[in-house]
Amino acid sequence: MVERVFVADCSSYDIKKIKKVLSEGLEVLEIDPRLFFGGKNCVLKPNLLLPKKPEKAVTTHPTVMQALAEISWENGAKELTIGDTPGGPFNRPYLKTLYKATQMEKVAQASGAKLNYSLDEVDTPFPAGKVIKRVALAGFIKHCDVLINAAKMKTHGLTRMTGGVKNLFGALPGMQKTEYHMKMNEINHFSTLLVDIARLLNPPLTVIDGVEGMEGNGPSSGTIKKAGKIVMARNVFAADFVMARIMGMNPLHVPTIRIAENLDLPAKNSDIEIIGDLGKEKFLIPQGKREITLLSGFIPEKWIPRIHNFFQPVPIFDREKCVGCGICAKHCPPKVISGTEEKNPKIDLDGCIRCFCCQELCPYEAISIHRPLLGRIIFR
Ligand code: SF4
Ligand code: SF4
Repeated sequence: MVERVFVADCSSYDIKKIKKVLSEGLEVLEIDPRLFFGGKNCVLKPNLLLPKKPEKAVTTHPTVMQALAEISWENGAKELTIGDTPGGPFNRPYLKTLYKATQMEKVAQASGAKLNYSLDEVDTPFPAGKVIKRVALAGFIKHCDVLINAAKMKTHGLTRMTGGVKNLFGALPGMQKTEYHMKMNEINHFSTLLVDIARLLNPPLTVIDGVEGMEGNGPSSGTIKKAGKIVMARNVFAADFVMARIMGMNPLHVPTIRIAENLDLPAKNSDIEIIGDLGKEKFLIPQGKREITLLSGFIPEKWIPRIHNFFQPVPIFDREKCVGCGICAKHCPPKVISGTEEKNPKIDLDGCIRCFCCQELCPYEAISIHRPLLGRIIFR
């Protein structure tokens, strides 16, 4: 079956324009909104990585959320909840800060949607999973009838881009995300986990906000990129495939897309019908982690982490910007960051698994990713 993906030009966050685009997208995707939303308990799941203002382009824009909320109500939604489990702590005060900064609070007030404050987790079996057979999902997501995956078009230091599939990692509450980074620190292993979660949740609609996306040091401290696009699809893998092309990337260089294609999910040109114009933007892509499997078998295993340090990208701290909050050290899965109290963070590189959670979660944009010269030459 060919999956249709709608790509709309949209150069501003004008509510009327966004609503028109979303309504047109539903029509193109042959979704009858009365049947889709009518009488359903709907959840809108934005990307709320950090408590950042919308103009930073880290989070799904509130206007996109407002438009989705209005369309849901107008078409008879019974209940409507907006929520995410952010990258940092998962507790009520932090959620409050998050919703306020990202203007989800305003969206909820204006639209009458609920904000999720429940911390419930539901153990969920997934026998068809490739690397997980069960996982704890956030209760509000697990119990909804319709999950709308409202992602953001951004680059990502580990997974190269964060669109629809990566947004669904946010369905896992609490410290699970950190634990999975630690357990599955090889990039293909971790990406297979992301694909498993997306297969399990299988959202019936993915909307990607690329009106203003992010390039370079994404997903939290890159540069705003005005791509002027909104992507919509029934299938999240097809949406990501098209998003990669809009960003000027070879989709097969994105591990989740390559894995999805190998699993015969709709993640290649012949599976997808694109309605709209991809444009000619080229996002600056971060120099992500690459596995150096060629070395295996030739040198003792214990030397590999040392040798990796010459090739693999490393988080670099900007000590001028560091305020010593300690968030990076707290969320570092192998706990290899020290010195944050003195605003002088350091990493034990031999233990660093290059998950880049530190860079992703630093609220002060004090961490960027750099690849050593040898790595730049080999992986250019
Ligand atoms: S680098 Fe960022 S997260 Fe880490 S202590 Fe400094 S400001 Fe906090
Ligand atoms: S230092 Fe940063 S990249 Fe390295 S393991 Fe810790 S969180 Fe991950």
